[in-house]
Amino acid sequence: MRVVLVGPPGAGKGTQAQFIASHLSIPKISTGDIFRANVSGGTELGKLAKGFMDRGDLVPDEVTIAMVRDRLAEDDAQEGFLLDGFPRNVAQAEVLKKMLTDFGTGLDLVLELVVDDDEVVRRLAGRRTCRSCGKVWHVDFDPPKAEGICDACGGELFQRDDDREETIRHRLEVYQEQTAPLVSFYADEGILRGVDATGPVEEVTQRAMSELRRFAD
Ligand SMILES: [Zn+2]
Repeated sequence: MRVVLVGPPGAGKGTQAQFIASHLSIPKISTGDIFRANVSGGTELGKLAKGFMDRGDLVPDEVTIAMVRDRLAEDDAQEGFLLDGFPRNVAQAEVLKKMLTDFGTGLDLVLELVVDDDEVVRRLAGRRTCRSCGKVWHVDFDPPKAEGICDACGGELFQRDDDREETIRHRLEVYQEQTAPLVSFYADEGILRGVDATGPVEEVTQRAMSELRRFAD
């Protein structure tokens, strides 16, 4: 199966991508992994991308797209794949559609992890990071024995700027702006399925799998 996974920050997308891909025995293809592989492998595209990243610039769409195309052409992706982090916008979605048409295939399903903003804030804003060892705790879901102190090393816990409520709300707004058109693009194509991403990780995976099975039947 050829699947795209989308979801807001804090929806557990990386974890779900891993689980779903392994249930389906298809490779999980994330743009982060592709970037790292190209950079560490010293490919031409990797060198190009690294130049932008070293200067603190965004890697241009054409470079990302060329990397995705190369990755989708590899042997292990011929029977299916799960894309995570691509496409990010409608322009990329159109490129992907064209790319797959060239390969003689197309996407089967797009799964959207659905979780409301307050739940994302609760998950992320409760995180506390140890200054000494970097371990991440959560005030509700994984609290240390003594408040503000790391169980593992006794270090002081703090809230990273990324985990502050204002920052999270801003990231969610940016996500909505970018992703809402992408989601309606796939809804129009008739291949979008929403998956309730609240509750335990295994239950979310099961919901995603039942959508995929329903499609396969
Ligand atoms: Zn620690």
